[in-house]
Amino acid sequence: MSVRAGREFLAIPGPTTVPDEVLNAMHRPAVDIYSGPLLALTESLLGDVARLFKTDGRAYIYIANGHGAWEASLTNVLSKGDKILVLESGRFAVGWGESARRMGVEVEILKGDMRRAVRPAEVEARLKADKGGTIKAVLVAQIDTASGVVNDIAAIGEAVRAAKHDALLMVDTVASLGCMPFEMDAWRVDVAMSGSQKGLMTPPGLGFVAASDRAREVHKKAGLRTPYWDWTDREGDQHYQKYAGTPPEHLLFGLRKALDLLFEEGLENAFRRHQLLAEAVRRAVGIWAEGQAIGFNIIEPGERSDTVTAVLMNGGHDPEALRAYCREKCGVTLGHGIGDLSGKAIRIAHMGHVNAPMILGTLSVIEVALAALDIPHGKGGVQAAIDWLGGEVKP
Ligand SMILES: *Cc1c(COP(=O)(O)O)cnc(C)c1O
Repeated sequence: MSVRAGREFLAIPGPTTVPDEVLNAMHRPAVDIYSGPLLALTESLLGDVARLFKTDGRAYIYIANGHGAWEASLTNVLSKGDKILVLESGRFAVGWGESARRMGVEVEILKGDMRRAVRPAEVEARLKADKGGTIKAVLVAQIDTASGVVNDIAAIGEAVRAAKHDALLMVDTVASLGCMPFEMDAWRVDVAMSGSQKGLMTPPGLGFVAASDRAREVHKKAGLRTPYWDWTDREGDQHYQKYAGTPPEHLLFGLRKALDLLFEEGLENAFRRHQLLAEAVRRAVGIWAEGQAIGFNIIEPGERSDTVTAVLMNGGHDPEALRAYCREKCGVTLGHGIGDLSGKAIRIAHMGHVNAPMILGTLSVIEVALAALDIPHGKGGVQAAIDWLGGEVKP
């Protein structure tokens, strides 16, 4: 017996739920790639992507996923043999660094771990010790989707400045852009990258990069530049140069709609919505944790992200059994543990096109699964989430 017939719900941290309006906006014939409307669309999207990153710098749109945008950002500012510093706080900055290593860049990892945020003081100390300025860039993820941590990019930018170091600050915002504040210029970030399929509610396939003036200066001498990713080519006058070939028309139609939805809601409201729903998840997990079988991966409450929560399972309880129950019996697909958390955790996504019933429904299904599988847990996690939302969201 199951209770899964009905709309399936995908609660994994990307790709996320695509709004029907976005899907509908994509459902149309192809258009001419050399005339009016598409040129205006590109213009509006490049402006709005820069607006999302909060920068007066340049934005670039690639036909790529996050891994592609990683490569785009690296090739444009680095040369073979350059050294970079990767700030570890999960899987993703390290993965970005691994791309750089395979491109011939020397990679040093500032050791962190899966259960906490990057410590800005350690970044400052490491950069201060780099007397000769051999480190050309510092790579960090704003939210690491594997650990569920949020890093304080403003403080890390401050640390780079305090160390009086010239390294470019490069930030991965794939799991945070559109979901929480990001202020590229104010935080002294030189290169930021993201993707379409998480907070931006659009199917996978678009990668975004933004570059500060300083990054574009460094770009002029970068040795790893290749034709497809190259910023200079993409700054050309011709429309086809913006995409180094045929534009991803339908993804652009979808993205336009998604950004319209986001701006209609208001970015500040969208950030607050994420905060409220994330806290609802944390309230529930906090109660369930009283049973000692599950708990937060991120130890410090203030370091838990507003887009994804990683929940550890211990005491011999199998997170895959929980996920299977939620999916097969109730129609909710949760994220699995990745990296060091593989086989040890579930991840609950709360990013992008999510609202109270989606999150409360997901939490309810998890609580049903905890009971059905006899996994010890504090009772009333969902009630705590309800109480939290009821207290915060007033008529
Ligand atoms: C998902 C994700 C990526 C990778 O994106 P892909 O589109 O899967 O290549 C990179 N960084 C972060 C923080 C992510 O969450």
